[in-house]
Amino acid sequence: MAKIMTLGEILVEIMATEPGQSFRAPGRLVGPFPSGAPAIFIDQVARLGQAASIISSVGDDDFGWLNIERLRQDGVDTGAVMVLKDAVTGSAFVTYNATGERHFVFNITNSASAQLSASHVSERLLKDCTHFHVMGSSLFSPGIREAIGKAVEIVKHQGGSVSFDPNIRKEILRTPEIRETLASILKHTDIFLPSGPELTLLVKSSAEQAAIEELLALGIQEIVVKRGRQGCEYYDARQRLVMPALAVDEIDPTGAGDCFDATYVTCRKRHMPVEQSLRYACASGALAVTRMGPMEGTGSFTELDALLAQCASSGEAGRA
Ligand code: ATP
Ligand code: MG
Repeated sequence: MAKIMTLGEILVEIMATEPGQSFRAPGRLVGPFPSGAPAIFIDQVARLGQAASIISSVGDDDFGWLNIERLRQDGVDTGAVMVLKDAVTGSAFVTYNATGERHFVFNITNSASAQLSASHVSERLLKDCTHFHVMGSSLFSPGIREAIGKAVEIVKHQGGSVSFDPNIRKEILRTPEIRETLASILKHTDIFLPSGPELTLLVKSSAEQAAIEELLALGIQEIVVKRGRQGCEYYDARQRLVMPALAVDEIDPTGAGDCFDATYVTCRKRHMPVEQSLRYACASGALAVTRMGPMEGTGSFTELDALLAQCASSGEAGRA
């Protein structure tokens, strides 16, 4: 069986309970929820019954153990998650404005995960890894940038594949080292999973079709552009496919992209056809948004099949 691995931040998320709630005044909060884009990704991989492991670090505190226990319970191998005595697990406080936009207060750059470095990555740790996933959100830390670069080289060298979700804000590209890291990861990428505007962020062309051609010319095999409620689009050298989103009630959008990535990659590594993989990935993103909390909406194939059947019977997935 393919073993899928990733590397990056683990944190907790604490959420405002009211739309439009300000963090400049006391208010009711809910959490802590297990979180961190790479952690959500790997949890979803494991929920599908796939061998899954994450290289990361947390503090020796309740926020760290909350995450480790959840990942273990869901089947993730947490042997490469270090518990650091003198560090604190990262956190994100999130509030939603009236139109559903998110506003975060992060404590990540000073957290335990920011202490990850290339010295934590070795051929021994990655020896069974056949696929490695990179989350752009992790590249805030110079140590994690080096660690991911090293992991990508090792996995490619041993014949494995790489997926990459840029998951970045435009401003971060002003840091030249981050731009370089992104370009070098892109060169090693087999499956590219941007959100809509990220498609043109790392290439010369600002037009979508030209960007697709540039990306395919770099050696990328499969590109899946995620478009929230609009579903997704798939491109390879031969074809373009469009898959609409499932009609569900969105409770909390955080984690949809991470679950989508995990399910698409897992299905492809199981040699499922592209169309079926996209259908499961959309179901996974849809399931994620129906639950409060970023990792609460990960699901098994049985749960994804049930959601697809439910949407088909209400006439929506018939379009998919
Ligand atoms: P993030 O903001 O976490 O980075 P993303 O931009 O990577 O997310 P999205 O496009 O928001 O990812 O979501 C991924 C997929 O999840 C979409 O392509 C879609 O299939 C599904 N999805 C997201 N939001 C919804 C929704 N409101 N209803 C149904 N499906 C959704
Ligand atoms: Mg994203």
